[in-house]
Amino acid sequence: MNQIVKVAIPRPVWQVYDYQVPDSDALPVVGGRVRVPFGHSVAIGVVTSLESESEFGSKLKSIDHVVDEEELLSLDLLRLAFWMADYYHFPIGAVFETMLPTEAMRGRKTNVEPQKRWSIQPNKETPAFKNAHRQAELWNLLKDRKSLTDSEFQELRADKQVLSALLRKDMVQWEYVEDEYEYRPAGFELSAEQDTAIQSITDQLDTFGVHVLDGVTGSGKTEVYIQVIKQVLEAGKQALVLVPEISLTPQTSDTFKSRFGNVAVLHSMKTNVQRFDVWTRIGSGEHRIVIGTRSAIFAPFKDLGLIVVDEEHDTSYKQDDSLRYSARDMAVVRASFLQVPCILGSATPSLETLHNVDRKSYLLHKLWHRPGTAEMPRFNVLDIRGHFLEAGLSPVLVAKIKQHLDTDAQVLILINRRGYARTVYCLDCGWRATCDDCDVKLTLHETPRTELRCHQCERRYRVHESCPVCESSRIRSFGAATQQIEENIGSLFSGVPLYRVDSDSTSTSTKLERLFRDLRAERKCILVGTQMLAKGHHLPNVTLVVVVDADAGFMSSDFRAPERVAQLIVQVAGRAGRAERRGEVWIQSVDPDNPLLQALTRDGYEGFVKSEQIERRIASMPPCTHLALLRAEGSNAEEQELFLKDRLDEIDSPQIETFGPVPAPIARVSNRWRYQAALISDSRAELHKSLRTIERHSPVRSKIRWSIDVDPSGMS
Ligand code: ADP
Ligand code: ZN
Ligand code: ZN
Repeated sequence: MNQIVKVAIPRPVWQVYDYQVPDSDALPVVGGRVRVPFGHSVAIGVVTSLESESEFGSKLKSIDHVVDEEELLSLDLLRLAFWMADYYHFPIGAVFETMLPTEAMRGRKTNVEPQKRWSIQPNKETPAFKNAHRQAELWNLLKDRKSLTDSEFQELRADKQVLSALLRKDMVQWEYVEDEYEYRPAGFELSAEQDTAIQSITDQLDTFGVHVLDGVTGSGKTEVYIQVIKQVLEAGKQALVLVPEISLTPQTSDTFKSRFGNVAVLHSMKTNVQRFDVWTRIGSGEHRIVIGTRSAIFAPFKDLGLIVVDEEHDTSYKQDDSLRYSARDMAVVRASFLQVPCILGSATPSLETLHNVDRKSYLLHKLWHRPGTAEMPRFNVLDIRGHFLEAGLSPVLVAKIKQHLDTDAQVLILINRRGYARTVYCLDCGWRATCDDCDVKLTLHETPRTELRCHQCERRYRVHESCPVCESSRIRSFGAATQQIEENIGSLFSGVPLYRVDSDSTSTSTKLERLFRDLRAERKCILVGTQMLAKGHHLPNVTLVVVVDADAGFMSSDFRAPERVAQLIVQVAGRAGRAERRGEVWIQSVDPDNPLLQALTRDGYEGFVKSEQIERRIASMPPCTHLALLRAEGSNAEEQELFLKDRLDEIDSPQIETFGPVPAPIARVSNRWRYQAALISDSRAELHKSLRTIERHSPVRSKIRWSIDVDPSGMS
């Protein structure tokens, strides 16, 4: 009897394909790869099931070749792939394209040879290398580092031949790494809060559960992860830690390495071959702890016992093109498949996560305090209506900055450069453009012409020349102040060292590390920075944080903008100051009575969340409802609009509210027009039913590039 296999082909196709298995020595396995004829060429696919018959009968093609005789993708990953195809309405083939490392799709063989750990021969005297400089260099490196594994050599781009030469001279030795790990205790006692959190999480290591670790910045969340991971390793299992961006914050992976030794790191800076090598070693169980960015959620594990998502609120967990998945949400799904715990850690948990805590589907663990006595800085709002601004700063704050600099402290000016959907406002009275017919802020569009649009009812308005309330002509939109401040701040405080932290000026981790080291040594200086500052670095000498344009977030027409800006402010503020000098945070605003801003400054992030939850409920926005965006882009604007309109017309469910199509907040990018439409529903099931009716409507490769974004990270 011939066997049939179902094979997922990593191409933009909506189904898996049946193939026949010819009689041969090698048998395909579920989760292993096969090479198959596909269209007019061949492809490397993944076997998703073994069958005894096929609805296509005897017309089936045969597989060419079995690549893996052992599984490459574990069953939980296969299940996750089908789950994602369903949930994100994305072609199953393309889901595999996203999941698999490039080298896996090229058919590279897995390397099952265990790694070696190298060290110098201990009983030998320091050899005289004479002219063998490269041997001397490598030997000294090994001596400094005590030992290095094959992958660590690879990462350092060391020449294997030099190592072989040293081995021939009997100057180095090696042993197999296998699945070793070591644990080194911290140099401090756990706080009572940490202890409680660790206890209650480790009490439930054998079942699925989502544990939200909500702890202020610097409260020692990492130590909680480490202690829980230690117990997972002791039970013989592996642990996965997801982090937003390793390249900018290498200290997180350094901490884990220094505490556990054998830690694999998966991030986008690695070459394809390196990635695949690490990936397969995780699959074989050789690596016990894996730290990685978004796509590490797709790494195969032999026996995964825990998933940690650090800074779970971070938007970089959401992929914003192709398969628009959230690695945070997939961590929860995968943990549920495996029946293991998932920890979501943050000082500023997302509203989605807190909603799940309220519904009792996630468990909350709190760390209220920083170890030691460091206090969180005090928050203040400065009303800048009617103020004359110098370099985007009110004179009150210019004076305050000078005052702090005079005491040799550092000042941080936070610029919020995220591309929010923009609106216009009056600089003198704080009036904002809202729709006459709806309760929403108007969105500013620059193309095809400058105008304001209501994204609810689609009514259009001309941009006001003067304020309808106070008649001032100082009507502004956000963004302008940001550029101005960067250009002019230097001349405003001449003689004071000025540092900049943004993605243009500090693109590499080494540059960033050097900058933070300089800052720790530096006395008075001004630091101008963007949201990059919210990522992981502590700034002990900063005593004043000035937030220039928080209004851009609080007044944006994008419902998620206030959450993002509140998270940014709280994260950055939490990194400033230390025990001896309590810091202060000043937020400039033309809308100082904004209830969200008030709540944030009075009661901190928690207060903000309470107010924002109410706003979301009133506006029927997530997490109270479920949202999907349809986007289309192409060279002809009308075509995009019409295409989306046709899609919305296909929906006939009373439980779905649709909005749009409207031009995207940035309506034209490199001469392609972008439109969007939204679907909102109280019922997740109804939303998905509607999305299913439209998902396959147009072929994947149509003239119109369009996409479905389930749980979008914003409205742009
Ligand atoms: P978070 O991730 O919550 O912002 P970290 O985990 O980075 O905080 O911890 C901040 C600092 O506090 C680290 O230097 C860490 O070593 C230290 N730390 C953690 N727990 C304790 C403790 N119980 N006692 C003293 N220091 C601690
Ligand atoms: Zn006004
Ligand atoms: Zn309207």
